[in-house]
Amino acid sequence: MENRYWVANESAVGITSVGMKMARLAVLLRKQRGILLAASLILAALSSHAQAGGRKQVHAGADAYVTHSPYDAQIERLIGQMSLEEKAGQMTQVTLEMLLQRDAKGQIKVPALFDQQKLDSALSIYRVGSILNNVGHTMDLPTWHRLLREIHAYKTPAGRPALPVLYGVDAIHGANYTVGATLFPQEIGLAATWNPNFATQCGSVTAYETRASGIPWNFSPVLDLGRQPLWSRIFETFGEDVYLSRAMATAIVQGYQGDALGADPTKVAACLKHFVGYSMPLTGKDRTPAWIPDRQLKEYFLPVFQAGIDAGAQTIMINSGEVNGIPVHASYDLLTTTLRGELGFRGFTVSDWEDVKMLHSVHKVAATEREAAKMAVMAGMDMSMVPLQFDFARDLVSLVRAGELPESRLNEAVRRILTVKFKLGLFQDPLPNLGGYDKFGSRTHADMALNSARESVTLLKNGQGILPLTKTSKVLVAGPGAHSLNALNGAWTHTWQGVETRFNTPGKATIYEAMKAIGGADQVSLLDLSAADASAGIARAASKADVIVLCIGEEPSTEKPGDITSLDLSRAQRMLVQDAALAGKPIVLVLLEGRPRIISEIEPLAAGIVMAYFPGDEGGQAIAEVLYGVVNPSGKLPYTYPRYSGDLTHYDYKFSETKDILFGNNAIQPQYEFGYGLSYTSFQYSDLALSTTQVGATDSLTVSVKVTNTGSRAGKEVVQLYVRDEYASIAPPQKRLRGFRKVSLEAGESTVVRFQLHAQDLKFVGVDNRWRVEPGDYTLMVGSLSKKFYAAWDWRQATK
Ligand code: BGC
Repeated sequence: MENRYWVANESAVGITSVGMKMARLAVLLRKQRGILLAASLILAALSSHAQAGGRKQVHAGADAYVTHSPYDAQIERLIGQMSLEEKAGQMTQVTLEMLLQRDAKGQIKVPALFDQQKLDSALSIYRVGSILNNVGHTMDLPTWHRLLREIHAYKTPAGRPALPVLYGVDAIHGANYTVGATLFPQEIGLAATWNPNFATQCGSVTAYETRASGIPWNFSPVLDLGRQPLWSRIFETFGEDVYLSRAMATAIVQGYQGDALGADPTKVAACLKHFVGYSMPLTGKDRTPAWIPDRQLKEYFLPVFQAGIDAGAQTIMINSGEVNGIPVHASYDLLTTTLRGELGFRGFTVSDWEDVKMLHSVHKVAATEREAAKMAVMAGMDMSMVPLQFDFARDLVSLVRAGELPESRLNEAVRRILTVKFKLGLFQDPLPNLGGYDKFGSRTHADMALNSARESVTLLKNGQGILPLTKTSKVLVAGPGAHSLNALNGAWTHTWQGVETRFNTPGKATIYEAMKAIGGADQVSLLDLSAADASAGIARAASKADVIVLCIGEEPSTEKPGDITSLDLSRAQRMLVQDAALAGKPIVLVLLEGRPRIISEIEPLAAGIVMAYFPGDEGGQAIAEVLYGVVNPSGKLPYTYPRYSGDLTHYDYKFSETKDILFGNNAIQPQYEFGYGLSYTSFQYSDLALSTTQVGATDSLTVSVKVTNTGSRAGKEVVQLYVRDEYASIAPPQKRLRGFRKVSLEAGESTVVRFQLHAQDLKFVGVDNRWRVEPGDYTLMVGSLSKKFYAAWDWRQATK
């Protein structure tokens, strides 16, 4: 990997102007005056539900948020038999690396072998409830099987209850720590398909292939809302919008767990993370403070978790950071009152990496680690990812013995943990069907990943019809992502940061390889940028080409290592594009990036721009097919692509944000809008109709619109429904996404798309922090955003 092109932080970009076009249909929905009463009645009902959890601490007695399952009797019997130490052990999770043999340099030996003494400590002395992680990189199926067999074959100490270990891993875009597994686009790419079926497919293939290694618990999906573009984990989210993220959350949890998790050996328990507010650090840096008003928390951040909970997710991981000054691991309000009382979560919560300790060492809210353990457990944490020592378990025992922590709270946590273990069938057979996963890494699975990648690719610019490329064109492919599987996959691929090349899956095509296979070896050439004079060489090399395809973006990274101080694309890559432009040949940029890195300086130099996010192992093929027109692109941005590093807005901005320094309405000027993406065909919208233009608070209406493929080839279109509340007691955003549908149309074909919209879909969180629907005028907008526009339009005129 040519690192100098990946340099992360620079600033200063030039200004370019954008044309303004709107693809928009507006209709007024006038609501009856009389509905105010009806609305407030409904809100009263909702609010009594919201308060059911109570604000006071309820742990002293039995589990206030009890989860009933067919296993209750067995679980109570087990709890009755368990010692205090065993209960504390159940609540303790350690990392695999802690249990392995190391060489003289402290490195984990290859192949991985358990250190018997350490394994003894974990399993027979501390009796830990869970183990997580990998050896630092991908392992093959036989190695996973051997390690897991050893864990599960471990002898229960004489006279003690048998308590299977729950093994967990981060398999976030496929079984990314198993050799030969199928790798899907990262979540942001799945969101860009606007096709929740792909989230379900990604979930079920990942579950199958994770289970094939013997692991039944997956730390996925990330349901943090991607509204801070600087944050290093944007690519792990479903983007900036609540509605789209909710749809994807439901779909992926369904894929992981199925209808009833049961003991189905092809399903895993999902873990929604990171509850809550993790994605909104004020500084943009990972694990730094978030300040989120309750109203925003409720309206934007919690609903995505609610969708995952409603889909049946069994576990939740807690946000490592602080929200409004309180580290979430110490927040009873969030972990108990909100999560259990309001959202109705009944599974178990697990801390993030070392976060109990960090209440003491980093957040400084606990004077000792022992105090931190008490704080987190009393707040509502059920299991601690300690993950490197047993102090937590020892502290729990000492706290209970000293009367500082009620044993009933441990029972509650253990009950929740054992319920998930029973549901997963671990008590019957912790490793069912090992060796029987014939579809692991199969062509069938790869095709699902390929189709997702194809639909994720988002065409952002197509000047003078540069795309699709013709096979008669001579193409020079260059850039740090041109010939790299790592650049396609992003972090959490074979290693944590995803930058090591030695674990990549042989046989998967890079962009260059896939383009060569389609365009022909004579027509497609690669410029190796690791050569010292690469920048100077690019114009020379390009002189023989008809088109230059530059694959740029950012090097894979996540969490702290992914922190940046500027959203600008690296200077080295901007210069590369400028050098390439000297050749005077059309340039097509392919963006491989976890965040929307600023490209405004180089955008005018490119005839075409294709956003690929991190499309996974099949991404090279998918991108090449889009570039050559084998596939008609249909991805749409799941976030607003900013034009300037210091100008970060979301699509649902407030009207006050539109004012520029001249008091005109030109302040909103993203590079590309949320929901934007081009096609090789064209679509026309007509006949927008509402079943009624007046509704009461309990009514719904049908919105219908005709969509016609007016171009000359088949294509897929994402029909998007937005609603604007014209006047509201809380300053309304200019629009909110309230529906979408992806349709596939042959050339010349039309279809009528119908959306069912309930008045309650228009609710927002009011001044009293409760959901409400207000009477008044609403504007509905249906369109594809397939023409670039920004909202410097006179909205008063538009609603007439
Ligand atoms: C990350 C989590 C991940 C955990 C276990 C943490 O550092 O924040 O997302 O699940 O590690 O690997």
